[in-house]
Amino acid sequence: MAQRTRTPHTATPPARTVTCPGCGADSVYSAANAYRPFCSARCKQVDLGAWASEDFRVPAEAPPADAPHGDPRLQH
Ligand SMILES: [Zn+2]
Repeated sequence: MAQRTRTPHTATPPARTVTCPGCGADSVYSAANAYRPFCSARCKQVDLGAWASEDFRVPAEAPPADAPHGDPRLQH
């Protein structure tokens, strides 16, 4: 009845491309790209800088892992 004909509008490229986290452009994700998943060294540097600054202002909202859960005085 309804026979769908597949129309391959997008041919699979031999090299896998990903979206560059730095600039959003297509980046070749292969061994040839030393900056993968970034497209260039510049984007990688920018992202590393962002992560570094992000790490310095991490909010200390989470309680310490060694803090006892609950009030020990309630445990009789
Ligand atoms: Zn980029």
